[in-house]
Amino acid sequence: MIHDASTLPLSGRLKADLCVVGSGPGGAPVATLAAEAGMSVVVLEAGAFIRPGQSSQREEEMLPRLMWYGGNQTSTDRRLRILQGHGLGGSSLHNINLCKRVPDSILKHWQQQRGMQHLPPQAWHALYQEVEALLEVSAVPEAAWNAHNRMLARGSAALGWKHEGLSHNRTGCVGSGFCELGCSYDAKNNALKVFVPRMVAAGATVLVQAQATRVLHEGGRVRGVEALALDPLTRQPLGRIEIEAPRVCLAASATGTPALLLRSKVPDPSGQTGRSLRIHPSVIVAGDFEERIEAWKGIPQTVECTEHLDLREGAADRTWIVPVFGHPVGVATLIPGHGEAHQALMERLPHLGALTAMLHEESAGRVKPSGELGWSIRYTLTPQDQAELARGLERCARLLLAAGARRVLVPGDRALSLEAGQDPAVLAERPVRVEEVDVSAVHPMASVPMGDDPATAAVGSDGRHHHLAGLWLSDGSILPGSIGVPPQLSIYALGMHVGRRLLDGT
Ligand SMILES: Cc1cc2nc3c(=O)[nH]c(=O)nc-3n(C[C@H](O)[C@H](O)[C@H](O)COP(=O)(O)OP(=O)(O)OC[C@H]3O[C@@H](n4cnc5c(N)ncnc54)[C@H](O)[C@@H]3O)c2cc1C
Ligand code: SF4
Repeated sequence: MIHDASTLPLSGRLKADLCVVGSGPGGAPVATLAAEAGMSVVVLEAGAFIRPGQSSQREEEMLPRLMWYGGNQTSTDRRLRILQGHGLGGSSLHNINLCKRVPDSILKHWQQQRGMQHLPPQAWHALYQEVEALLEVSAVPEAAWNAHNRMLARGSAALGWKHEGLSHNRTGCVGSGFCELGCSYDAKNNALKVFVPRMVAAGATVLVQAQATRVLHEGGRVRGVEALALDPLTRQPLGRIEIEAPRVCLAASATGTPALLLRSKVPDPSGQTGRSLRIHPSVIVAGDFEERIEAWKGIPQTVECTEHLDLREGAADRTWIVPVFGHPVGVATLIPGHGEAHQALMERLPHLGALTAMLHEESAGRVKPSGELGWSIRYTLTPQDQAELARGLERCARLLLAAGARRVLVPGDRALSLEAGQDPAVLAERPVRVEEVDVSAVHPMASVPMGDDPATAAVGSDGRHHHLAGLWLSDGSILPGSIGVPPQLSIYALGMHVGRRLLDGT
């Protein structure tokens, strides 16, 4: 059953064989497999249960319900915006449905560096196949590419740059274009649609508006989880809940999981917990076209440009280019200027087509707990990554101009504008500084990287914590490093893998 903890009696104690914290692509498969194997399972989810029919397609209503800090989470210096979702289903509720596998070059590199005895490349291949079938992943047909994505294909073709269509996990999509506000048509094959009904049918107890604050442990063993029921509007604590469980699986995301581990003082002699956070920092360039692009219409992000993405270790080209769109509030926060100048640009909205260059980064951030419920994120770009992001700006500008844009705009305090005919090379002359150019990220990962050696990793390649018996991790935090492509498929795969290893180890 699914219960809203904010409406339950003020203090409570539950008992279970397993407590799973977080219900996104990492946690939902673990809870489902364990419940179907006959375990009593309690799932704690900090966000709300939002049914597809409750997605109103309005930014001011949906962003606070779907996103941590209403979509305004930043790094501690307030320069970098890092988007993460909350709600039953995690970030899979509002993500754009792109599904990509991690290439073999990265899987082999992990094997060499981290051991990965439980997850060699062939095990990943089998997991990807399984998860792609479960999520009904398929290529978006060319006939369904909207004008925005066709613009990217046109510009890439004009430059002779490598580009291709993307695969998504959607069934019954009507192309409404509101994916990032939650799907009203239940067309996303996400954790809420694919896994939650199965775990509930198998008897799992799901508590929403219930945020874990600590993993309870003594004598080197887990004994449960302490959580707070939260008011859905104010996020203020309403009551305390304790889950007594001999097994705990943390799946609270690459920020939530290390924050919980550190707040709970879970031992980690490797010192890796919360370090080495990757986020895929991204920059945006908008093109102003004569024709109407109407980027908000149709399926978003169906075409990619991979001309400058080389995922081999040590490669110089590390940017991936896809269209990025926004509804009016999102666009208004990015568009430079104030007053009439801002209004004039907003009036061009139907003609704007933006691209983002996402970086397969070397930089690493740090996550620490903040108070009882929060976390802080420190993240500084290395000079190499700043230079590569600047090249990303130049590449996006070239592509937009090749596709017919009459001018391009780079949002940020150092808002830049280039007219057709000007050389975009100027954009790569200065490295990207977050205090000058808008940089954002939607893919936190690798903050508790798995590895088989307890001296250099807190968690093994089976998801088992090396230093606390009964504790498991299953979310983006355990990816061993940046993957350079959207992570959800890999995190669902990890969820299936960790769920099975947890059952083996029971
Ligand atoms: C705008 C946007 C678009 C994206 N688009 C794509 C895409 O197209 N393709 C793709 O592959 N990836 C995409 N992603 C990324 C992808 O959605 C995430 O990488 C993925 O959902 C992460 O899975 P996870 O299980 O690690 O964490 P999450 O999905 O973040 O789930 C963690 C859950 O744990 C909950 N939680 C956290 N702390 C606690 C706590 N203490 N107690 C209880 N619950 C807690 C959170 O509320 C959340 O629901 C996108 C992300 C964003 C923000
Ligand atoms: S585009 Fe498709 S998946 Fe996205 S919100 Fe609309 S119907 Fe749902």
